[in-house]
Amino acid sequence: MPEPTATSCAARACRDYPTELDDVLGHDQVGHLARNLLCRSGISTVCELREMTDQQLLSIDKFGQRCLARVREKVPAPQSRSRAWASAPS
Ligand SMILES: [Zn+2]
Repeated sequence: MPEPTATSCAARACRDYPTELDDVLGHDQVGHLARNLLCRSGISTVCELREMTDQQLLSIDKFGQRCLARVREKVPAPQSRSRAWASAPS
């Protein structure tokens, strides 16, 4: 099953206010929630998201473990970046 993208997503926010994070976080319920909360906190790019620690993310109102797990699945935490990418040349 192909993953939906911003252009095929039924959510209004994705169509009307697309951000770089939409396709990264996914277009299911958790992806949308995480994306909306991040946008409200002024984070709308993968670059900005990469600089966020778990603690900073969880300090966002309503941003729970489910959203955190989704973000971490797609974007490694700053302190784990070197380990996660250790085998790939930069
Ligand atoms: Zn969407």
